Amino acid sequence: MTHRPAHNGTVIVAALLVFFPAWKHSDDGIGSSLNIRDVLMFGQKYTAWFYSERLDSLLNHFAGDEEAAREIRQLRQKVDKQFGRETEVLNERTGRSIGKSNRYYYIRYSKFSKIRQPVKTECSFDGSDRVFQFSVEVLPQEAAAKLLDYRTKATLRLPFNGLWYVAAGGLNINTNHHAVSTDQRYAYDFVMKKNGFVFQNDGTRNEDHFCYNREIVSPGVGRIVEVVNTIDENRPGEWTSGAGNYIIIDHGSSEYSILAHLKRGSIAVTPGEKVQIGQFLGLSGNSGHAAMPHLHYHLQNSPRLFAGDGLPIRFRTYVANGIEIEQGELSWNQYVMNK
Ligand SMILES: [Zn+2]
Repeated sequence: MTHRPAHNGTVIVAALLVFFPAWKHSDDGIGSSLNIRDVLMFGQKYTAWFYSERLDSLLNHFAGDEEAAREIRQLRQKVDKQFGRETEVLNERTGRSIGKSNRYYYIRYSKFSKIRQPVKTECSFDGSDRVFQFSVEVLPQEAAAKLLDYRTKATLRLPFNGLWYVAAGGLNINTNHHAVSTDQRYAYDFVMKKNGFVFQNDGTRNEDHFCYNREIVSPGVGRIVEVVNTIDENRPGEWTSGAGNYIIIDHGSSEYSILAHLKRGSIAVTPGEKVQIGQFLGLSGNSGHAAMPHLHYHLQNSPRLFAGDGLPIRFRTYVANGIEIEQGELSWNQYVMNK
């Protein structure tokens, strides 16, 4: 969900990435459905097995062949050797995989004894206790957090109506994949969730995603600098490059809002036009470098896309996880709405 590959200028300490082949008797849709708490519980269980002396327990649930089982043992050995032992779990993510009924994922970000960067462990499984994939990788280094103490000059509010979920945000790479880039250093990705999931049905249609086709509004007073409104949208699970359909707003005082991945043809403002806070801009969509519908929003000090420095955003008068905030920055994993 960044707009471009996240490799520019980053140092990958020691990347390990192993995906296990799908089970040959793949029968998507047969496994039971899980609620989001169960997804967390199952994911924690498999990951605990992987990082403990109970690797065999994991392999017993593993829907792969002998060779895949060998690979998972090798992966564990490599992890021990290169990363050391897991010392702290930083945060976890859970969800359902697009296009596969009753297939779920669990992602854990944690610290290890031999390396500084957080490690991402991911597994996928179904509701019938079968594990399909297991992977481990080191996350890239964050860009320097310049302007960390910057105070937003413009009065900015959340750029949408209704209750949204902060899917990416914050200073660290483990909660905010944008943190590798200078311009998007403090960017956010927003989605909507119901019962912990971001889509219904199998998630392969944009309309399956709860945040698709929602009203996006101007976060502040300003003048429209640039609009792109003609980019075809992606099918969930696939993506192209760039910001897709996007809007750049000049708030004055060298503060520019960028709202990206919007729905093709939905943007209702034009360059040069003055906009008010809360004014309708367009609809959320799934265009550009987006694997599924979501809203990307960040503030920067340049009027050009992929240029300048990102700025921390202090939003005004909103509700985060049910608590009213007069002015503050958002964090990953918050449910937020305008007050
Ligand atoms: Zn983004």
